[in-house]
Amino acid sequence: MSTPEAATGSASTHAAATRVTVHGAGLAGLTCAALLARAGCRTTLTGGPSAGGPRHLVLNEPTVTVLTHVWGDDVLAGSHALTTRRIRWGPGAAEQDLPAPAIVVDAPRLLAILDRRLTGVDRLADPAPSDWEVHTMAVHGAGGTEATGGEEGAGGVAVGRRCAMVGYAPLAPGVPATACRMATTVDSWLYLTPLGDGRAMIQAMTPTPPPDPDGFLAAELDASGLGSLFAGPPERVTVVPAAPWLAEHRAQRGRLRIGGGVIRLDPVSGSGAGHALRTAVLAAAVITGIRDGLPADTALDHYARRLGAAFLDHLTACASHYRAAFDTAAWAEEVRVTEAAITTYAGSPHGFGLTLHASSTVDLRG
Ligand SMILES: Cc1cc2nc3c(=O)[nH]c(=O)nc-3n(C[C@H](O)[C@H](O)[C@H](O)COP(=O)(O)OP(=O)(O)OC[C@H]3O[C@@H](n4cnc5c(N)ncnc54)[C@H](O)[C@@H]3O)c2cc1C
Repeated sequence: MSTPEAATGSASTHAAATRVTVHGAGLAGLTCAALLARAGCRTTLTGGPSAGGPRHLVLNEPTVTVLTHVWGDDVLAGSHALTTRRIRWGPGAAEQDLPAPAIVVDAPRLLAILDRRLTGVDRLADPAPSDWEVHTMAVHGAGGTEATGGEEGAGGVAVGRRCAMVGYAPLAPGVPATACRMATTVDSWLYLTPLGDGRAMIQAMTPTPPPDPDGFLAAELDASGLGSLFAGPPERVTVVPAAPWLAEHRAQRGRLRIGGGVIRLDPVSGSGAGHALRTAVLAAAVITGIRDGLPADTALDHYARRLGAAFLDHLTACASHYRAAFDTAAWAEEVRVTEAAITTYAGSPHGFGLTLHASSTVDLRG
């Protein structure tokens, strides 16, 4: 792998004219700001370290590829490596082991490393107006309850109502530290991530927030058979929205949304951070491309449609996974609204603007 600078090209001579403000210093904001600055834009970043996001992220191989390409091969040094995923998905399904190389990162630590590597970017709380504003903040906010089952609203479309409970617990002695586990119960699916320090992060996804998240998570662990892998109950349990969401206004002249500000994926995808990074890379390419003479309408339309296509692919995968795993009325409703959203928005000129068929499959890895 080459240096980060070599990977993204040298500064442009047109640069001084293009001023960009990136709002939000999470993975997407830092990455977009870095790429724009390296391409010669006068770049300002607002906001401090990410607040309220997940403490640990599992980065799959494509995500690691994008991250190290932009930030350097050593950016994940010292992080815990996973090799395998043991899955039992759906009633009566047999357990199977799949190779699933991934890296578990302490998100605040990673963001601090990226922040230190960021050069040529101004940090201002209240910058002057720019040619471009890039936003990483979702309109619906972190704890949004806007999920409506595929209806427009809250600045975008949320497809379903499901949420994730996230907690931490000590692993029992002898439990392998390199294998993730996924399992379903009647009511939820669970994801166990060993952190490499004797603990694991546990996530449970369910269609509606339970009144007692701690009790629910402990009970679902036992119901899934994963409870025996732990030496203690889950602690520090938080509840976050986990239904897919896509911003309505993704790209306008002078204004782009990226990362969690434009698309939120169901955790079943395992690639939320990867998509956030890809939107950052694509947004930087759109801004510098327009600066260098690309027709603005074409570039902005491409950005909006590409994300719409990725979202439709994601909805299709979600419907398939959840149809196969669950029989309850609550999950059937999640599948129904997902299928309705696909039908409504595929091909609609006012929705995602794309027809869903095999050739429309878009890989944001680009
Ligand atoms: C519980 C949970 C677990 C997850 N686990 C995984 C996982 O294992 N693997 C994976 O790939 N993905 C995972 N994801 C998804 C992943 O966290 C996100 O896709 C990714 O962090 C989005 O990055 P981001 O930079 O867009 O947003 P964030 O990381 O949320 O960063 C945005 C930052 O910008 C700040 N900000 C925004 N707007 C402004 C503004 N106007 N002014 C100032 N500051 C602003 C915010 O406060 C925040 O600090 C998970 C998500 C959740 C909720």
